[in-house]
Amino acid sequence: MNLEAITFDLDDTLWDNGGVMRRTEQGHYSWLDTALAEWQAVEPAGRFATRFPLDALLARRLALATAHPPRRGDFTWLRQRALSELLSEYGLAQEHAEHWARRAMERFMELRHEVEPHPEVEPMLEQLGKHYRLASITNGNVEVTRLPLGRHFPVTVTAGELLAPKPDPRPFLLALSHLGTHPEGALHVGDSWEEDALPARRLGMQAAWIGPDDRPMPHGIHRLDHVRELPALIQWMEKTRKRTG
Ligand SMILES: [Mg+2]
Repeated sequence: MNLEAITFDLDDTLWDNGGVMRRTEQGHYSWLDTALAEWQAVEPAGRFATRFPLDALLARRLALATAHPPRRGDFTWLRQRALSELLSEYGLAQEHAEHWARRAMERFMELRHEVEPHPEVEPMLEQLGKHYRLASITNGNVEVTRLPLGRHFPVTVTAGELLAPKPDPRPFLLALSHLGTHPEGALHVGDSWEEDALPARRLGMQAAWIGPDDRPMPHGIHRLDHVRELPALIQWMEKTRKRTG
């Protein structure tokens, strides 16, 4: 079957996400701490982040994910709920705790979207978009439509909010149905073996896996060092298809 559509993971596929997450994590928490201290005029020892350091937020998120398995991929919900619980325990009234958790999440989402796609990505999507239908499928909470390169994706799936994060097949199937193609006519590109390559392949899609190791690849999974190698892979796939009919 012809290659008709390409679906993309986002984090660590189109950009390096580690630095973004560290800046976002620390940035929104210190914003909250400063804003709260101004609002309440508290002494340094009584400040929110002094009593609940960033590690406390992480621990609470993990506990919430364990307690609410269907929500384990809905990072925005987990984060906001964890913040609001800690703020309540800090002594804020419920409505204030929820208000400040919401404000902190707004700051989080601003920082979260300060991603820098690899320089090759924009021109690559521009070219690919002329020949294939493109979609993004992410487990993260980046809304790709807020980014300049969002214009290349007519279809975007935020799998965590579906309560069915990858490797669940549903986000793939949703993207494919919006793209109007069958799995056999689509290629999925992503950096996770478990959440991108394997589930896409199980559905019958081709998969491009961006990964470091050189183990022999199963049929239908193609390894790349970097997303910039994708156009060459697609060229090769198209040639092979023509040769084999
Ligand atoms: Mg990824």
